[in-house]
Amino acid sequence: MQAIQKPRGTNDFFNTSALLLNHTENIIKAVVSKYNFSEIRTPLFEYTELFTRGIGTETDIVSKEMFSFEDRGGRSLTLRPEGTASVVRAYLENKLNSENAVNKLYYLGTMYRAERPQKGRYREFRQFGLETIGSSSPLADVEIILLNLHVLKSLGIENSKLYINSVGCKKCKPNYEAALREHFKSEFDNLCGVCKVRYEKNILRMLDCKEETCKKIMSNIPKFEEHLCEECATHFDTVKKELKNNNIEYEVNPMLVRGLDYYTKTVFEVQSSLLGSQSAILGGGRYDYLIGEFNNGHDIGAVGSAMGIERILLIIESLNKKNEERLDVFIVAFEDTAYKVMPLAQSIRENNFSVEFEYDIKSIKSQFKMSSKKNARYTIILGSEELTKGKCKIKNMDTTEEKEINITDIKDNIK
Ligand code: AMP
Repeated sequence: MQAIQKPRGTNDFFNTSALLLNHTENIIKAVVSKYNFSEIRTPLFEYTELFTRGIGTETDIVSKEMFSFEDRGGRSLTLRPEGTASVVRAYLENKLNSENAVNKLYYLGTMYRAERPQKGRYREFRQFGLETIGSSSPLADVEIILLNLHVLKSLGIENSKLYINSVGCKKCKPNYEAALREHFKSEFDNLCGVCKVRYEKNILRMLDCKEETCKKIMSNIPKFEEHLCEECATHFDTVKKELKNNNIEYEVNPMLVRGLDYYTKTVFEVQSSLLGSQSAILGGGRYDYLIGEFNNGHDIGAVGSAMGIERILLIIESLNKKNEERLDVFIVAFEDTAYKVMPLAQSIRENNFSVEFEYDIKSIKSQFKMSSKKNARYTIILGSEELTKGKCKIKNMDTTEEKEINITDIKDNIK
């Protein structure tokens, strides 16, 4: 009999991976407490209608990624594909606004989407989510961005990039959509089938298209920033100003519109170059009209985000691997300095750094290639001219900075 395996796109956590998962969740909880967000836990499944109404039938999630099934009474249930709709449902059902005008909530839990699995994209995955409900202030948007960046920093994840954009409100979205429609009009015949449908039904979603021909057509699109109404423009300006005030670097990305229909005003995403094709670590934005959808049109300002925990684990694993396998110093020499390599290597090794070099002197290019292959942090270049002055060159292989130093100062230059 064939052994039963886990369903496609799911993961088991045990031993070190379970420890790493717990460590990550504990750090998240510690940071969250500094911002006074409180935990909310909602069911793993909800009535399907919650997601179709909340996320929008035109989205990939609702149109093709939901795990839905019928209960015994024939009512359709769905494994939650994201957290916001459930949090909003719980907020209204439990009248959370009766105690506090502003509710700052966080969740950690599994989400389910029938996507095609690949590295960083699974059918069962974990999200850390934040929702600030009850405020229209741009400061709430910025606080959520800061909290997320604080978590990344506490986890030692630094080389990530923050992208922001504004997708306006009911007043200005139609102006931008009209500008986009005009922009794509002459190229309509060259768009892919999906984009042709989106052009008619939901033109903003065209910006998510991954087809190469469409991507080319989408370069030079009009910027939403230039079509915002006064209120949305002021909101966006404040977000940018506050990010600067807090020394946060960002880039405005006009292509960033996010896959879910409910976003208004601020949208943001953090990406990491360490993740390959699934580069988004987290995303979020303001959703001022979602609550009204479930609340007889009574809108309440809200903003939220969701971070992919498995992607965090992938980054931490790749950083750990990089650190573990690093050589401190690789020495590059020439024919006339080869005799100096071994004593120099020994003196650096005696200072507790790992050192390697080529036994046979090869071209500089091939020695540098070897240095990169060994994942050296520093390369020391021993040239005869420098050597006669008691000096050498040292190159930081991460920053590519190269400088001349005294041979006696090598250990002070290796951090
Ligand atoms: P979204 O809810 O689509 O805005 O996604 C928020 C974050 O969750 C993304 O930036 C990813 O880090 C993560 N994420 C989304 N979908 C998946 C998936 N299928 N597998 C793993 N992580 C995911």
